[in-house]
Amino acid sequence: MMIIENVRVLHFSPGSVSEPMDIAIEGGKIAEVGKGLAAKHPKAERVSPGGYVSPGLVCSHNHFYSALARGLSVSIAPSKDFAQQLKNMWWLLDRALDEGIVRASGLAGAADAAMAGVTSVVDHHASPEFIEGSLDVLREGFDTVGLRGVLCYEATDRNGVPDGLAGVRENERFARKLDAERKAGGTALVDAAIGAHAPFTVGDETLAALSATCKATGRGLHIHVAEDKFDAVDSRYRFDKDICVRLDDAGLLGPKTILGHGLFLTQSEVELVNERDCFIAHNARSNMNNCVGYNDKIGQYKNAVLGTDGIGSDMIEEANFAFFKHHDAGGTRWMDSYLEMLQNGNRLLERYFPGKRLGRVEAGYEADLTFWDYDPPTPLESGNVAGHVAFGMSSRMVSSTMVAGKFIVQDRKPLFDARAIAATGRSETRRLWQRMEERK
Ligand SMILES: [Zn+2]
Repeated sequence: MMIIENVRVLHFSPGSVSEPMDIAIEGGKIAEVGKGLAAKHPKAERVSPGGYVSPGLVCSHNHFYSALARGLSVSIAPSKDFAQQLKNMWWLLDRALDEGIVRASGLAGAADAAMAGVTSVVDHHASPEFIEGSLDVLREGFDTVGLRGVLCYEATDRNGVPDGLAGVRENERFARKLDAERKAGGTALVDAAIGAHAPFTVGDETLAALSATCKATGRGLHIHVAEDKFDAVDSRYRFDKDICVRLDDAGLLGPKTILGHGLFLTQSEVELVNERDCFIAHNARSNMNNCVGYNDKIGQYKNAVLGTDGIGSDMIEEANFAFFKHHDAGGTRWMDSYLEMLQNGNRLLERYFPGKRLGRVEAGYEADLTFWDYDPPTPLESGNVAGHVAFGMSSRMVSSTMVAGKFIVQDRKPLFDARAIAATGRSETRRLWQRMEERK
């Protein structure tokens, strides 16, 4: 047993701050929260970090494959719209990924997340020249760092239907492998979703295969939808259906479905997504960066969550951007709405990890915790948590990160080999640049 003594428990949504108390952790779970636990369990290991402890942060849509894209030194042809941007930049990048670069990307992405106080990442992976086995290699990053996650491969027909189907098979292989591990008593920190890139690159044959795989594995679809207007228009032009109607007709909308973006979904699609109890991931920084527009309907969803879409894993910054972008667009919601979306990531995880409870610092919940070295110059109280996050707190104040009762970062020191991960990242990035040049 471990006792974290004399800390204030901070919940972001609904906002609350406790008096200093102790947290008892055993078997990866929170056993008890209250006063005097250190005295009650004198033999337990004791940790006295000071400051605040919150539930671990969740990034509900990410692409670790772009972890090495920062500082990209490859000349990219200018793009007139999002479809060209995909072709000129992102599809050039993902085709250049091989096993070594995927491994380095996964490690770098996971390390970054841990340092930002993120305990779980929902990843959407693509490496069209290295499909089979890619999720095992990506998983190495999660396992090495000790991060929880839900992984999938973005099946796409953009390089032909056989490749699309190979992507679906990689999802199925990975999901079944995890099932076998659990059946054998394993305690994997990762689970699988069934991934696809976006409706405009997925034809009906691959869509049917995705549907069959979701049913066979008991998982949900993780797909981009209407990130750009082109996707919505293409669906009506080629398939004579709104995107979500097409997905629903294929049996692909359900409580484990994760839709990324959704900027150009119609009002009736919003209602359908809510009826089917799907999740929708809002990625404000990415939308601003890609100049695709703003999802002004995000507040209407029952299950909105926050993702970074590959721009690191700093969820405090992401929540702040979502809030500021909303105000910039003339909206009137307060920061607490975005902290609620951040918190909703835990409900998504609970659907992929049946039997586990996530997102509260309470007995019975998984011990996924973020420790904050925050000493505010104004009172932090239950009623003003959102204001502190928007205008005071930052991921730079994360002192420790714990997943399933194990520290992965402690007192600002990573408990994995961060230097080696960064060094490998830099050398693999040089190869990535070269491979991108070769594929132009
Ligand atoms: Zn994405």
